[in-house]
Amino acid sequence: MKDIQEIKFYSGEACPLEMHKVRIVQRLNLLPIEDRVKAVNGAGNNTFLLQNKDTYLDMLTDSGVNAMSDLQLSAMMVADDSYAGSATYERLEEKLTELFGTKYFLPAHQGRACEHIFAKAYIKDGDVIPMNYHFTTTKAHIGLQGGKVLELYYPEALEVDSDHPFKGNMSPERLLETIAEYGVDRIPFVRMEAGTNLIGGQPFSLANLKEVYAICKANKIPLILDASLLADNLYFIKVREAEYRDVGIREITREVADNTDIIYFSARKLGHARGGGICTSDHDAYMRLRDLVPLFEGFLTYGGMSVREIEAITVGMEETMDYYMINQGPEFIKYMVDELKKRGIPVITPAGGLGCHLDAMRFLPHLPQSEYPAGALGSALFIAGGIRGMERGTISEEREADGSEHYSNMELLRLALPRRVFTLSQVNYAIDRITWLYENRDLVGGLKFTEEPKVLRFFVGRLAPVSDWQEKLVAKFKADFGESL
Ligand SMILES: *Cc1c(COP(=O)(O)O)cnc(C)c1O
Repeated sequence: MKDIQEIKFYSGEACPLEMHKVRIVQRLNLLPIEDRVKAVNGAGNNTFLLQNKDTYLDMLTDSGVNAMSDLQLSAMMVADDSYAGSATYERLEEKLTELFGTKYFLPAHQGRACEHIFAKAYIKDGDVIPMNYHFTTTKAHIGLQGGKVLELYYPEALEVDSDHPFKGNMSPERLLETIAEYGVDRIPFVRMEAGTNLIGGQPFSLANLKEVYAICKANKIPLILDASLLADNLYFIKVREAEYRDVGIREITREVADNTDIIYFSARKLGHARGGGICTSDHDAYMRLRDLVPLFEGFLTYGGMSVREIEAITVGMEETMDYYMINQGPEFIKYMVDELKKRGIPVITPAGGLGCHLDAMRFLPHLPQSEYPAGALGSALFIAGGIRGMERGTISEEREADGSEHYSNMELLRLALPRRVFTLSQVNYAIDRITWLYENRDLVGGLKFTEEPKVLRFFVGRLAPVSDWQEKLVAKFKADFGESL
């Protein structure tokens, strides 16, 4: 018998089906459009600075906001609170050993804290770090240690409209060239990111990971896996990689782990809680990283996490082995992507994990990158529907050393679908508002910085519209809807 079965609909019109029911709910607000304009400008047109109370659909991120299960919540009540040697910590350590087969675990308060620790332990000035694609916090930590990121993706990774099933793959040819060019002494590790975040939550294949790992091993370079978005990547390996169609999630997880030296993750994503950590079987690596944990995070048996969260991660990791848990996110996202595509709206394909990504470069072709099309689209969509997305384009890049803009390869507005949080009717509402905005895209204008921090400017930077385009958008909305909701 197959370990998963497709659920068929008598009508023939299939839609994603939730294998859970909702037992705790939170009231939402949908502000009138006049108030949405005020809110977004109060936030400097930066969706990071919006208030939750002003937001109808919070699609900013999947970080720390995935729905927790009844078993996770109940486990939180039996957490064993102690500074050192808590049973709660041991349960997590054992669960990670069971799933990844790794011997050692170092806890940290979230994903970037793991990056801070291994960047400090491994990178010296002038090093280069090959990876499939960078993540914002990873690149910042590598840069702070004097290292440089080299992205060894295939060209299709940046093709917005593609049917490539594994856009997160690393090019083994380019890895070999990089090693030949820089030499192993300047490459402290290679990094593979599961569910490659910034190119649209796109997975790598297990075949590709194995090939990359073989090269790393032959050259004695450690391979570090960023497993923050592993759950989505596991799902895609199972449904897109023929060889693994009939292999269980648990077995796939183990095979991924067996083809890496060090695994780190943000438990704000993986495990549906809040926290993070580093797993390895390599004793030398463990010793190298270990001393930094009490210094920056907390003692070795909590690493800055609350014991309640640690319990929740343990249960969440086990639940991640359930196909009918990890399929929910990618299937909702696929539904949204398919519906937007049907309407001719530019969206990243194939559908990935984490969220649906609108291609702002094609959505707003009249805006130059110097006016931040993805940021402008984020502001416009909040005005159109109280929907809060995240700019993943030039605003999310850092300026060059000479102060000039570093234009991003892609200008994306990411609409995250925190797992098991939204209903299909809410997704349909988002599709409706995006469709309206697309039909009125000519009205959307650009943004300019009014306050620009030097590091990770996308978090707290403030911007303003370059013209009165927002007023025009509001007038059109009211003309079309006859109302302000
Ligand atoms: C979120 C994320 C991180 C950072 O994790 P935090 O817990 O937010 O610090 C690192 N890598 C990837 C791929 C992520 O998605």
